[in-house]
Amino acid sequence: MFQTFQPLAAIATTPNAVHTLHPLCQQTGATLWVPASLSHLPHTQAYSGSLKDHLQTLWNDHQGLICCLATGAVVRLIAPLLTDKSQDPAVVVLDEPGQFVLSLCSGHLGRADQLTQLLAQQIGATPILTGASNAANLPSIDTLGIPFGWQRGAGDWNAIAGAIARGETVTVHQAAGSELWQAHLPPSHTYQFVSDTEAPQIWISPKVLSPKQSSVQWHPRVLWVGMGCERGTSRQLMEQALRQVCEQHQLAWEAIAGVATLDLKADEVGLVDLCQQANWPLKCYSPEDLKAVAVPTPSDVVKAEVGTPSVAEAAALKAAQQFTLLATKQIFKDPAQPGAVTIAIAQAEQEYTGRRGQLLLVGTGPGDLDQMTPASKTAITQADVVIGYTLYVDLVRSQFRPGQIIEPSPITQERQRAQRAIDLAQWGLTVAVISSGDAGIYGMAGLVMEALQQNGWDGQTPVVQIFPGISALQAAASQVGTPLMHDFCAISLSDLLTPWSVIEKRLEAAAAADFVMALYNPRSQKRIEHLLKAQQICLQHRDPQTPVAVVRSVYRPDQTTHLGTLSELDTLPVDMLSTVIIGNATTRFHQDWMITPRGYFPPSNPST
Ligand code: SAH
Repeated sequence: MFQTFQPLAAIATTPNAVHTLHPLCQQTGATLWVPASLSHLPHTQAYSGSLKDHLQTLWNDHQGLICCLATGAVVRLIAPLLTDKSQDPAVVVLDEPGQFVLSLCSGHLGRADQLTQLLAQQIGATPILTGASNAANLPSIDTLGIPFGWQRGAGDWNAIAGAIARGETVTVHQAAGSELWQAHLPPSHTYQFVSDTEAPQIWISPKVLSPKQSSVQWHPRVLWVGMGCERGTSRQLMEQALRQVCEQHQLAWEAIAGVATLDLKADEVGLVDLCQQANWPLKCYSPEDLKAVAVPTPSDVVKAEVGTPSVAEAAALKAAQQFTLLATKQIFKDPAQPGAVTIAIAQAEQEYTGRRGQLLLVGTGPGDLDQMTPASKTAITQADVVIGYTLYVDLVRSQFRPGQIIEPSPITQERQRAQRAIDLAQWGLTVAVISSGDAGIYGMAGLVMEALQQNGWDGQTPVVQIFPGISALQAAASQVGTPLMHDFCAISLSDLLTPWSVIEKRLEAAAAADFVMALYNPRSQKRIEHLLKAQQICLQHRDPQTPVAVVRSVYRPDQTTHLGTLSELDTLPVDMLSTVIIGNATTRFHQDWMITPRGYFPPSNPST
């Protein structure tokens, strides 16, 4: 969860602060720095000299500093180190008891706000975020495009952020890139979406707005540069030529997604260098692939040489999935530099995020947020997108942060939900798919994994992480006693995906083997006979007096519990929000508690 914040450093100057920070350092991987006087404490690393000097050494090569000392002291210590909000690390302050976590500086670009929220969740503290956009539940203007891999261009970011904070109307012209962010703004937002390209305050486009307007510019990475070159062409010539083409067409350098070329050029030194330096992917296509692309400027000479009539235009278009060619090919030479390069630029419909997508498959527990693990909460807060059944999305709403894309969907649309999550993650977003209880027990995690397998997933991209949750059977059991204290099984009575004959066979086997049973999906409005059949099967193997429990909506405000015997099961109120627990041969009631003995107190033998 904290990988994107590495390297992280934590600072404590008292034993209590060490005590508070230690678990956080374990969870986040932060180094816990202490003065020499505390070097005897385990899991710490001592700095020599003053904290002021030490902070100076940490400042430039750390993404985040977690300080457990007085805010005033932190302010004084970091004051001489502050340079610019695009460079300074995230600085977060905790109080010694760990009740509050404060985002002190670099809240947006340094992601201190996000780090603060995640840390607060880990220890159940209150996050303190004082930024204006946070209060308005708006994504901050200078981080808006980060999930989609957009690059920030020129602009007076403070002026626009100030206007938004004052609640003034801000005009937005978006010519490219995902509009998902627009769809997930709070109703109170003051953005006005305009088609007027003359004077918008927020400009989202691969093109550069002329500098006279006061605006901020985000550049979605939609430009694919097609390049062909002679062997040995210098990187400088390539870069110079590309800058020239961008300038001619008012295209932003930041909007470049990557470079595409012929497979023969995969090891062309200048090209490889250029891509490495700019952190661009280099896509290489075979002559057959390129031949199939219709281009405005084919060449017989090129065809005779490499087997395709176009390299630059065809490769650019192919990489951009044939969306649109913005700059037809131009050839560049420079007598002072070796080689020659041909450049064309195409625009893709969807931006390249440059990110490795993640699927976080999150179990949210049975209902109440208290029953959800801190890791699951953190996963939800961290995600760019949260996808889930509407009811469960509403249950975890308090974990959301401004700017997240929240996609609730009806209960019947599990498959669409899974595919949507996979598509977004394949594109590069971090997507949390939430599921009640445990996501891997009759939950969305299983469906997503099956769908990934169907999609030919390589097991690595997108990255998958599964966050366990308290399943209905554990939650239900906790409300009635310790019915699961001996071997037990879960059986779903839903025959939507499993033939009834299979369910019946498992009920039969579990009943015969004297497993305690937790029945999921026990009875829907249409399907009432399955529970009766389950009851009959159990009665063939178990005493009619065997204790049963029906727990409905456990850990939700309308929770109900009914205890009874196996012979009464058909008279108890059971629906799809209930879990049924059927005891084994030794399960008994004591007062209103259901107890399955483990065997600590064997029954005394009546014959002795
Ligand atoms: N992934 C979930 C199970 C989903 S299947 C989990 O691990 O708990 C749906 C079934 O789970 C429901 O029909 C019901 O039998 C059970 N269930 C889910 N939440 C419940 C709750 N809060 N109270 C009682 N039963 C619940």
